[in-house]
Amino acid sequence: MVASSVFTREEVRHLLMVTGDEQEALFQRARQVRRDRCGDVVLLRGLIEISNFCQKKCDYCAMRAPNKELERFRLSAREILDVVENIKDMGLNIAFLQAGQDPKCDEILEEVIPVIKRDIGLPVLLNLGERPRKSVYERYVELGADSFIMKIEASDPELYRNTIHADIGKRIQCSHWIKEAGMKLGTGNIVGLPGQTLEHIVNDIFFCYDFKPDFVSSSPFIPNEDTPFEEIGYGPINITLNCMAIWRIMLGDPLIPTVSPLEKIQKGGQLAGLNAGANVMTINCTPAEWREKYAIYSKERFVVTLDHAYQTIEKAGMKPLTRPVKSVPEAAAKWKPLDPVSEAFEHRHLISPMLSLGRPTAVAQ
Ligand code: SF4
Repeated sequence: MVASSVFTREEVRHLLMVTGDEQEALFQRARQVRRDRCGDVVLLRGLIEISNFCQKKCDYCAMRAPNKELERFRLSAREILDVVENIKDMGLNIAFLQAGQDPKCDEILEEVIPVIKRDIGLPVLLNLGERPRKSVYERYVELGADSFIMKIEASDPELYRNTIHADIGKRIQCSHWIKEAGMKLGTGNIVGLPGQTLEHIVNDIFFCYDFKPDFVSSSPFIPNEDTPFEEIGYGPINITLNCMAIWRIMLGDPLIPTVSPLEKIQKGGQLAGLNAGANVMTINCTPAEWREKYAIYSKERFVVTLDHAYQTIEKAGMKPLTRPVKSVPEAAAKWKPLDPVSEAFEHRHLISPMLSLGRPTAVAQ
């Protein structure tokens, strides 16, 4: 078995820049760590974007509060639950609810999270941004949420302030609150931000490593219309892939998504992500009329469908971590029993979250 190991700063600086044979050797090592620690399976998340309102002003995102060009939406509980039923019918593993930083979603989530967890029967992953108190994150756990993504995006305080126009300390505080509340934590960075140096990315790697996250992701920068960064070029895809492979080797068994911006920049980009050690794909299940307004990295995002995910996973020589469902007969036909490593991975991420259904709420008592 290949043990996960910690690189020195010098080694990370070198590995971030490798290409050709050296890069292939890095990816091979990352895949071996993934095989040993997680199995060659890909976890499939069903994403629904529930609101594009946002309080923040990130320079790379068209959902930033000052953008008056964007038509805003916030879904009702019924609209969200209809999509989550579909996610379950597609055989996807996790309901992933994402929004801009919009605290008005919290009232809707009071109704939605317990139904997803207890009635529909899916683990709940949230990506909703910062909240003012730890008790808000504790409340998500009481309702039944299992995990929360709070990407740091840029771990250098000055780069963070110049790009996101906020104090990084709040983001770090919220990340600690998420863990203390009992949720799994996701973090990660963007590669190719204006003003970012290689040294900043080396810092991102160690910053996220120190959090011992349950998930970690690296996304290449994409210029987004109606933002201050709309004229900047794409982030470097090779450094992004190297960053993912380094995290796989250093951290061992976290979930690492192969994100849609990789495919947006380069056809086959998400396959390259799986080949670099990733093991998660996110299927966008947001209905088109709202999805087009969720301009997180571009109005013209690459929309990951179930077909695209299955094809990509097959090309990578991996297996989708799905259970057979009647509505996806092709997937049912291809389903085979898992090896013990993959089964342990499935238990950790999909079965054990369902054993804790959240503490009973005051209303339920
Ligand atoms: S990246 Fe997230 S927090 Fe920043 S403006 Fe966009 S939606 Fe808001």
